[in-house]
Amino acid sequence: MTLEADVKWMRHALSLAERAATEGEVPVGAVLVKDGQAIGEGWNQPITGHDPTAHAEVMALRAAGQQLENYRLLDTTLYVTLEPCAMCAGAIIHARVSRVVYGAADPKGGAAGSVFDILCSDRLNHRVACEGGLLAEPCSAMLSSFFAARRKAQRPDGVVLTAADENLADENQGC
Ligand SMILES: [Zn+2]
Repeated sequence: MTLEADVKWMRHALSLAERAATEGEVPVGAVLVKDGQAIGEGWNQPITGHDPTAHAEVMALRAAGQQLENYRLLDTTLYVTLEPCAMCAGAIIHARVSRVVYGAADPKGGAAGSVFDILCSDRLNHRVACEGGLLAEPCSAMLSSFFAARRKAQRPDGVVLTAADENLADENQGC
């Protein structure tokens, strides 16, 4: 996979993240690619779906499984705008995804090295090639502006608080 192709698919994941934002969900998007084709797309939707597992990565894996009629998603690359959490890292390993490319790191819940190192662990028999930081800036900016807008909406005086002003543990819900 060339860098040009990686950038193209990460931009696609960003457009899916935008879709999450328009639905009032934390903006994270994911797309699973096999042989240069998208075989599964997902965006974060736990709130609208009443489903704590409905992270972008899980939604993309589910869609791809249906498309391939197989629970093993071999020789695929998952592009996701935010570093996967522990749950998604587990699902990615169960699916036997070959490679993960993520955008922004998640220092609060990332499981590709930030908090845990599940994706790249050599204690598991399936190895995932993992690369972070592709288009990290727009991926992270989309999250920041979403939370800034939400904080503004929560304040009747319209004052925008910074993350340091509040306990923003709930930001983890989108990982
Ligand atoms: Zn997740």
